[in-house]
Amino acid sequence: MVNEVEKQNMENVSNEKKVGVDVRLQNVTKIFTDKSGAETRAVDNFSVLIPGGKLVGLLGPSGCGKSTTLYMIAGLLKPTAGQIFFDEEDVTVVPPEKRGIGLVFQNYALYPHMTVRQNIMFPLENLKYPKEEMERLTYEMAALVDIENLLDRKPSQLSGGQQQRVAIARALVKKPRVLLLDEPLSNLDARLRLQTREEIKRIQKETGITTIFVTHDQEEAMSISDEIVVMNFGVRQQMDLPQVVYDEPKNLFVAKFLGNPPINVAEGYVKNKELRLISDLKLEDIDVEDQNVYVGIRPEFFEITDDGAISATIELVEHIGRDTMALCIIDGYHETVRAIIAEGRHLQPGQKIKLGYKRIFVFNKDTGERIK
Ligand code: ADP
Ligand code: MG
Repeated sequence: MVNEVEKQNMENVSNEKKVGVDVRLQNVTKIFTDKSGAETRAVDNFSVLIPGGKLVGLLGPSGCGKSTTLYMIAGLLKPTAGQIFFDEEDVTVVPPEKRGIGLVFQNYALYPHMTVRQNIMFPLENLKYPKEEMERLTYEMAALVDIENLLDRKPSQLSGGQQQRVAIARALVKKPRVLLLDEPLSNLDARLRLQTREEIKRIQKETGITTIFVTHDQEEAMSISDEIVVMNFGVRQQMDLPQVVYDEPKNLFVAKFLGNPPINVAEGYVKNKELRLISDLKLEDIDVEDQNVYVGIRPEFFEITDDGAISATIELVEHIGRDTMALCIIDGYHETVRAIIAEGRHLQPGQKIKLGYKRIFVFNKDTGERIK
């Protein structure tokens, strides 16, 4: 279960000055049972090591169990099975207020009748700190998230991005060991989302608090995370550096979930060490056993070349920056593919081309596991 990146993390942790706690889930399962007795396995035998001081993105489609995982780490939900550790401490049944977590939700959940100052200070109220100390910590957090000039306003007088900063300051004011963010940018418009994303990355680097950032947005996860954990149907799919998840997907799901425009996928088979599409078109020799497969080629893997295996006709051309995206129909086959061609200014609809590829992924058709 422990992969290369995790091994590296463990070594780094032991060599360097320790920053932030490690969060470790061991075979965690959560089953919800409704009144009729029907079960939903929201999280399924999930194991992961989130290294101290890192910002890790938990990425997957809606309903795959991200929030459930986060709330179990927070202590708001109890696992049906498995254990959760902060460093060596087993926190599986420790109540949320004793775990030292800060939680930020998608909707800002600020108290509308309180000022920004009172909202940020609220978690400190029960701690019986001296007033000056609470004021100082509140100001420090407000300054960290860059809203120290808004302390006397009410939430309704703030933009969505500012409200979410207040929520982050409130989550941080008790100096949590772990910061948990559940789709914190979803309610923001595109520009604010980008800006707040950068802010969160900066704040996380400044504080060094182990942070888990839940999102269904692959681009967001790619840009903000030190490492990404991809999950689907409650099951861990892959954990790696963002670029590695993209470049070396472990299975068809991960390959399809990351990338925009998405990867081209076509059915094919391997027979006598030859890889062919189901149209029988031979792509290349391949040294694996006979099996049915899915072939995956990312749009940017294509190139136009005279000896390309795939004959196609361009249907549509779209210029994106310096590159060109061509929607092509493979000849004698109804499959359309998206190809991104560098320096493709000359391409025209109707044009006949030969497509080669720089890289190809091959997945077993039954398991989805990548075999090349
Ligand atoms: P995500 O955050 O990835 O969108 P969730 O963790 O919220 O997914 O949900 C995972 C699955 O568990 C979904 O099928 C959801 O309907 C189900 N689920 C979540 N919370 C409950 C609950 N309190 N009772 C029953 N089912 C739930
Ligand atoms: Mg959710």
